[in-house]
Amino acid sequence: MDLFSKYYQKKWAERLDVLWEAGLLTTDEIAQLRHLGTAAALGDTMIENYLTNYALPEGLAVNYQINGKDYVVPMVTEEPSVVAASSNGAQLVKRAGGFQAQIAERLMIGQIIIENVQDQVALTGALAVREEYLLKVADEAHPSLKRRGGGARWLRLRPLAADLLAVDLAVDVQEAMGANMLNTMLEAVATAIRTELDQDVLMAILSNYATECLVQVECTLPVTLLGRGDIPGEVVAAKIAQASRVAQLDIYRATTHNKGIMNGVDAVVLASGNDWRAIEAGAHAYAARDGQYRGLSQWKVQGTKLHGQLTLPMPLGFVGGSIGIVPVVQLNHKLMRVENARELEQVVAAVGLAQNLAALRALVTDGIQRGHMKLQLRSLAVAVGADADEVAAVVQAMQAQHARSSQQAREILQEIRQKNERK
Ligand code: NDP
Repeated sequence: MDLFSKYYQKKWAERLDVLWEAGLLTTDEIAQLRHLGTAAALGDTMIENYLTNYALPEGLAVNYQINGKDYVVPMVTEEPSVVAASSNGAQLVKRAGGFQAQIAERLMIGQIIIENVQDQVALTGALAVREEYLLKVADEAHPSLKRRGGGARWLRLRPLAADLLAVDLAVDVQEAMGANMLNTMLEAVATAIRTELDQDVLMAILSNYATECLVQVECTLPVTLLGRGDIPGEVVAAKIAQASRVAQLDIYRATTHNKGIMNGVDAVVLASGNDWRAIEAGAHAYAARDGQYRGLSQWKVQGTKLHGQLTLPMPLGFVGGSIGIVPVVQLNHKLMRVENARELEQVVAAVGLAQNLAALRALVTDGIQRGHMKLQLRSLAVAVGADADEVAAVVQAMQAQHARSSQQAREILQEIRQKNERK
């Protein structure tokens, strides 16, 4: 008998029992899952085949000043040094007057793909004259959005090939991220196109390439703030600008440059209860908007100042999705003191730029490992079995011996334990 047959119909406790029956986990291990699953009722409403809650650390980045307002920013990440680098980058910028952020407009784009197009000119003409009507169809599919001041704004027609046409629908989704609302509206418009224009609709779905929902953040720092050790600020600034240039020219570097930005962005997006896959997908597509994948931020020396700027597609929700139902998300909103989706988007972009500044400054001076390894060594010590009161000693010994591997960590831990036994 397939133990996992109709798994989704079982109650949470029964689902855990199956794991034991299938010999996948021991009773003790299942008890661990049961213990973690105190929020089972909520988990069951959020995803399918819910087992447990997977906990990630949440830390608080400090020192942010954006458009004159001070923020502390909760970040959810498993990676050491991200929160420290974020606070460090933010502090540098705060000393120079903080970040300036802006959002020109905030529309989500969805697409209806029409296939087997016979005559592009006739079809685009027929759709263009019906634009107002199709926008009305979209609005009627989710009327509360219009009541809130949002709703369908425009249609754009893009032939993709002789037989394929993309009908883009732009919607003001107000305070939501809008994926579900938009998908409902798109399906209504798709039905109208199918039935009234007798067209074959292949699919109707929002696009995560959120080019009409861009957030721009910038900062300007006196180069004197950037000195590190013996390296003068103007040298560090010039090297940061050079590193930024490399990220514009080379995809190998650009990918890592952007990963560093997303270290910050994803962590706040996650803490705010938003869909970080949507933000990731949009950011990387935007990085390749001119045909070559490039760094998302740019740093330039302007006289005695270093200027940094970052533009990102940032369709975040302040309501909707899991935001209203996960208690810690509510606390995180409160901690951040953000009042709407636009403000949240500006904070997230500023975190991306701060993260990038801290990483580039470290890279072109001390190298990334110095800061990174401290916490990495702690994780290594824990991974090889060090207790809470042994971790510091293992890390200290590893630093003294320039040890980096788990084998070395294991040996050091053994030596420490042997020494302690002899005492
Ligand atoms: P919801 O489906 O939760 O819709 C937003 C909700 O917020 C609606 O119920 C709306 O109420 C309510 N709301 C309350 N106040 C406001 C306001 N001021 N402005 C706007 N809405 C308000 O979420 P979304 O449509 O935002 O979809 C986001 C979710 O979709 C995410 O969880 C995401 O993971 C998921 N998703 C993502 C996809 C992708 O990225 N490709 C694809 C599909 C889903 P009312 O009903 O009264 O209007």
